[in-house]
This record gives sequence, structure tokens and C-alpha cells, in this order.
Amino acid sequence: MGRFAPDTVGRFAPDTVGRFAPDTVGRFAPSPTGPLHLGNLRTALVAWLSARSSGGGFLVRMEDLDRVTSSRDHEVTQLADLAALGIHPDGEVVRQSDRFALHDAAIDRLTAAGLTYSCYCSRREIRDAAQAPHGDIHPDGAYPGTCRHLSRAERRARADAGRRPALRLLAVDVEPIVVHDRFVGEFTGVVDDVVLRRNDGVPAYNLAVVVDDALQGVTEVVRGDDLVSSTPRQVHLQRLLGLPEVTHLHVPLVLGPDGQRLAKRHGAVTLADLAARGVTASAVLSLLAHSLGLADAGEPVTPEALAERFSVASLPREPWRWSDTPA
Ligand code: GLU
Repeated sequence: MGRFAPDTVGRFAPDTVGRFAPDTVGRFAPSPTGPLHLGNLRTALVAWLSARSSGGGFLVRMEDLDRVTSSRDHEVTQLADLAALGIHPDGEVVRQSDRFALHDAAIDRLTAAGLTYSCYCSRREIRDAAQAPHGDIHPDGAYPGTCRHLSRAERRARADAGRRPALRLLAVDVEPIVVHDRFVGEFTGVVDDVVLRRNDGVPAYNLAVVVDDALQGVTEVVRGDDLVSSTPRQVHLQRLLGLPEVTHLHVPLVLGPDGQRLAKRHGAVTLADLAARGVTASAVLSLLAHSLGLADAGEPVTPEALAERFSVASLPREPWRWSDTPA
């Protein structure tokens, strides 16, 4: 590849030789908290295929905001696994943990616009408030706004009690956001007072993802459909920050034989597990291609050949169920 060189914010600048700037830039943004399993790999493949099938660029970003569970070793393994399938990013891989200044600058803009406030609630208080029998009805997991209207004295009392605040978005009178997903179709979501900075000072996922996608010039987001409900919040943040909107394609998660989201406990689910059973990376690529309706069972394929066959309209509607023991 090497058609692009990233500038300082991880965006692809046109290559001085190829002078080629793509209209489409896709990305895969794993959290380096363990090896990628077949579900992650399948999503990565769809993200790569979607970008490449329209001649676009493709980035990988390590979402390592959680320093406890993320590790450099996992980053290396994840990139090696992607490479084994023939999925190569077009430039340097960026890490969110190197980009806090960029995230903070966006948070500062929201604060300057009077759109943030400190929140001292614990998880438990939020859960209890949301479930209070006579309280307002709040959408699933949405913050009920407890700390919105604290007086200065109330704030001081909480700080004096040693509570470190998170910073939330003040989302008052926000109309429900309609998202047009290329696969899921149209869906509507309510925007709550989403956390922008966690109480350990680290930027929160929804803020970081929006800032990074925009600064890296990403135009299409492909990811697992467990993140569908976060999308309206992210679109709202993009609009507030005046960032370009991206297209979305949420891919159904891969399920284990028990119908639950695929996980380590389901047996051989990573490339290393499968290699130990004699299943090569090329065989896994064939398997994933077949699961996406892009190849016959066992057909040898290359990512480039799959990109020519790829279309969102022909992606299977049903989640793929994986069993590591032949039926
Ligand atoms: N880092 C997230 C994950 O691994 C994906 C976030 C995204 O693609 O927006 O689930």
C-alpha cells in the first residue's frame, strides 16, 4: 500500500508520489484488551471491504482509553492478526492515549459554550435515580441529570467529601437524532448528558471517537451493532463541534452456539486458537467471506477479490453463529 502518509493528527495527506486523496476513508478501531476474535475480525473485514470497494483508504486506531485492560502486547497481536488476513492499514496506527490534548481541546470548546457540567454521581446513584418509581422515565442507561442543577455550595460539599467529578454534556432540549445506517436502516435515539471526561481525567469513549474520526478524516464508520445506541450521542457531539458527519454501518455481532455474543468461553475463537487446531489464516478468511455471503464454503479468497464482490445490500441480515465443533 503506502499510498498515503499520515500528518500529525493521523489524517492521511495525499502521498507526494501518488498524489491520491481518497473520498472515502474507513477505519477499524479495536480496543487492545485481548486478541481479536472471529467477531472482531469479521467486522474489521467488512470495514476494510467497504472502504476498499469504493477505492477508499483504511485506518486502524487503537482505542486504549482504558489503561488497565489495554496493553501494547495486545496491540501487536491484533495488528498481526489483521495482517494475517491481508488487512493492512494505509498508514501509521494511532493510539487514543497519545491524543488526549486533541480530545481536551474539543471538551474545552464545549465548556466555553456553556455546554458542560461536573457530575459527582456514582454508578450506583445513577442506577438508583433512573429506577426511582416516581422519577421521570429515562431511556436505557441514560443519565437522569441529577448533577445538572447543583448549587455552588452543593458542588463544594461533594468535592470536599473527596469525590472527583466526571464532566458531562449539558444536553437540554435536544431533539431525538435520526441516524441512517447503511445496513440497519433508519433509527432514532435520544441524547442524554453523556460523559465527556471520566472522573479519572481520561476522555470518554463517545467524545474521543468523534474527535478522532474527524481529525483523521474518517468518512465511514463500520463497527459492531452493540454500538448502535451510542451513535445518536456521537452524531449530536459532531454537530455541536461542527465536525463533518460520517456514514455508519453497524454489523451484527457474531454469536456463539448458545446464541450469546461470541466470547473466549466459546472455545476456539481467535486466530491463535484456530491455528492450534490446524486452521490457517487463509482458511479463516474463507470462513469469514462465506459467512458474509461473499464466497462458497472453503473457497480460497483474497481480500482484494472480495472487495470486488462486496456490496452492503447483499450482506446477510441474520447474525452469524459460530461453533468451533463441526455440526
Ligand atoms: N473501540 C470500540 C470497540 O472495540 C469500537 C469503537 C468504534 O468502532 O467506534 O468495541
